[in-house]
Amino acid sequence: MKFGGTSVGDVARIKAVSGTIRSALRPNRKIIVVVSAMSDQTNKLIELTKDLGVEGTIDPEYDALVSTGEDVSASLLALALKKLGIHARSWRGWQLPINTDSFFSNAKIKSVNTKKLIQSFKDGLEVAVISGFQGVEANSRITTLGRGGSDTSAVAIAASIGSERCDIYTDVSGIYTTDPRIKRKAAKIKKISFEEMLEMASLGANVLQTRAVELAMRSKTPIQVLNSFSNEEGTLVCDEEEIMEKNIISGIAFQRNEARITLSNIEDKPGVAAKIFGPLAEAGINVDMIVQSSSETGNTDLTFSCSAEEVEHAKEAIAKSKDLTYKNIIVNSEVAKVSIIGIGMKTHAGVAQKMFETLSEENINIHVISTSEIKVSVLIERKYLELAVRSLHDSFELEKI
Ligand code: ADP
Ligand code: ASP
Ligand code: MG
Repeated sequence: MKFGGTSVGDVARIKAVSGTIRSALRPNRKIIVVVSAMSDQTNKLIELTKDLGVEGTIDPEYDALVSTGEDVSASLLALALKKLGIHARSWRGWQLPINTDSFFSNAKIKSVNTKKLIQSFKDGLEVAVISGFQGVEANSRITTLGRGGSDTSAVAIAASIGSERCDIYTDVSGIYTTDPRIKRKAAKIKKISFEEMLEMASLGANVLQTRAVELAMRSKTPIQVLNSFSNEEGTLVCDEEEIMEKNIISGIAFQRNEARITLSNIEDKPGVAAKIFGPLAEAGINVDMIVQSSSETGNTDLTFSCSAEEVEHAKEAIAKSKDLTYKNIIVNSEVAKVSIIGIGMKTHAGVAQKMFETLSEENINIHVISTSEIKVSVLIERKYLELAVRSLHDSFELEKI
């Protein structure tokens, strides 16, 4: 069972969560709980690094600092459970240990050592409460797993221990056809395939961290997303084969803060794209959509997108590229990406066409398009983001899902 930030937001919530755990206990059942930091604590810790002027610096001390929020909620929850007479104890990432690589602030889990956990359960422990978001690298420094990383901690532990399922408790009642904060009438999806959820998460639905879904898919660990504030039935993220009724479109995801960069009048000859994207990759910039038009004149334009935060960084990287000639660099940092996702697209034609038609009816101009087997993404002006999501939700009739 994993509980996110709002679910353990204050002491009253921690008490409520201890009650939920108590009702899930059975004579022959042991429970592993993974917790996030209490609401907003991670942001506050990151604010402190901003105040110090070291925000964004890759440094083991950053991870040592921002991982502490999880330790507070783990210990508080263990205390609350003990108060209910439950045999519980907290574990920090390094105590198990949860081994990671050394990419501070965005480390990947290499292995979870479950020996101590299993021994404690044999010795009578009923509930183990583990700090999410953190691990330890080869030189014994604390690492963190990137924002939203407690989801990944939970799935990694569930997979390592051979758990039949990983239950993720959050502040909404499951996975919805789109973010319910944007579309109030978004519908809850009963079952969604790993593949679709992976696209949803990586295209902006941060209800689950992308890497958690990836890991669940690889280890075949189903995830159940539930509301810690109510007893409603949640959403099961599982294998495609377990889903009888496949929707053509399952959901709409979006990324608000995108930027579009166009290099005009570049030479249309072998090696030019490499001269642009090589330096961008070296600078660690995540390039997303790419479009290049064919040319008759020997010169062409190339457009790509990246997150708005990385624009300045991207411009610097391009400026440093050797022998790259272009006329202008045109930046639009006021764009957003909207994507429709659905496994049914594999077998149904006309989905992209319907998306374009809907946007055109709202007079929304499409800057860039990209597709895969199960998604279509478009880049549009940011001010039309909500309108685009809502009208696509209506035209694909997702409230009836
Ligand atoms: P937690 O702190 O529990 O990890 P998060 O804030 O990370 O919670 O994720 C839950 C939030 O994800 C919801 O409050 C919701 O606004 C947002 N969200 C975005 N897309 C979706 C979606 N398709 N379905 C459900 N929630 C979504
Ligand atoms: N507390 C961390 C964050 O806010 C990890 C998590 O909540 O999953 O990113
Ligand atoms: Mg989260």
